[in-house]
Amino acid sequence: MGISFDKKVDGSVWLNFDIQPTAQPTELQNRVDKLKDPGFGRVFTDHMAIVRYEHGKGWHSAKIESRGNFPLDPATAVLHYAQEIFEGLKAYKRSDGGVNLFRPDANARRFRDSADRMAMAQLPEEIFIEAIEQLVRIDRDWIPGGEGSLYLRPFMIASEIFLGVKPSAEYIFSVIASPVGSYFKGGPAPVSIWVSENYTRAAIGGTGGVKCGGNYAASLRAQAEAIEHGCDQVVFLDAVERKYIEELGGMNVFFVFEDGSLSTPPLGTILPGITRDSIIALAREAGRTVREEAYTIDQWRADAASGKLKEAFACGTAAVISPIGTVRSASGDFTISGGAAGDVAMGLRKQLIDIQYGRAPDTHGWIRKVF
Ligand SMILES: *Cc1c(COP(=O)(O)O)cnc(C)c1O
Repeated sequence: MGISFDKKVDGSVWLNFDIQPTAQPTELQNRVDKLKDPGFGRVFTDHMAIVRYEHGKGWHSAKIESRGNFPLDPATAVLHYAQEIFEGLKAYKRSDGGVNLFRPDANARRFRDSADRMAMAQLPEEIFIEAIEQLVRIDRDWIPGGEGSLYLRPFMIASEIFLGVKPSAEYIFSVIASPVGSYFKGGPAPVSIWVSENYTRAAIGGTGGVKCGGNYAASLRAQAEAIEHGCDQVVFLDAVERKYIEELGGMNVFFVFEDGSLSTPPLGTILPGITRDSIIALAREAGRTVREEAYTIDQWRADAASGKLKEAFACGTAAVISPIGTVRSASGDFTISGGAAGDVAMGLRKQLIDIQYGRAPDTHGWIRKVF
């Protein structure tokens, strides 16, 4: 049984996970078939991690168990007021058969920040990482080889049964895992993006800087509008002046200029992506100037036309880096670098992936080996 504790005592906390392997593991042939072409987010492993929180009792009942339903009372708080946060990271199989996690400490920290903003209980970072490692260990046979990976989805819901509007006194933290194929087969195809002029994603003081499900719910109408206009993704503008580029529904953006410098929108109302942060570090190390500065849609269009802008790309854990080829808006369309994938984007992409899979040295301490 898991032991319980309340708060960090003298800076260290521990919680034992009760490991209960499933009585009905997926049969080998079935698993092999599922791993052949898993796509994204539809195939799941046999287990999940669960940790519960109760006000006054703290985190308790940490378990790894057979993946299954949560029984939820219809009055469970998350179903009404959307107190929910999540994370996304991957486990990568190295060529020596070992398994890497990429910067899980950064996800753990961001998860605490998200919890704080949403007035939820903050899960100690050690428990976040331990839950992930235990799940990867028990489900290691589900990690695809090659360019595939095991996508890990830690999340937390408000589980108190109460319709009053207040922070929940109970939470369920869980981690599920989903084998995913290479996001792009045969290298990333440039994406087209739609500039949302009707909808915004985040306002100053709002929740744009944290990873809560509600941000996604609010972005889906704009994403649907992008698809109606023949685009792959939506890009949001700032909510005040409606002219500064913020980010896509679930990815940050970068611009590459003819002098070799990069720029990316500053933190605040955008999600502080771990891929974004890693790209800034790698580009600076390579001697490039990286500016975190506001950039307008009009300037983007003008720089694309004059040739000052060479590349634009989106980035996030799922797709790593996606070059942006075409930008469409109600006030006209434009193309970047002839709609082709740029060298800087592709170079950074390879550098990052090589670190993640352990093919390049980890000079930043970003890799945590599970095996
Ligand atoms: C998760 C997310 C990102 C990307 O973050 P990574 O840590 O790089 O995966 C970017 N924007 C939004 C809105 C996100 O939710």
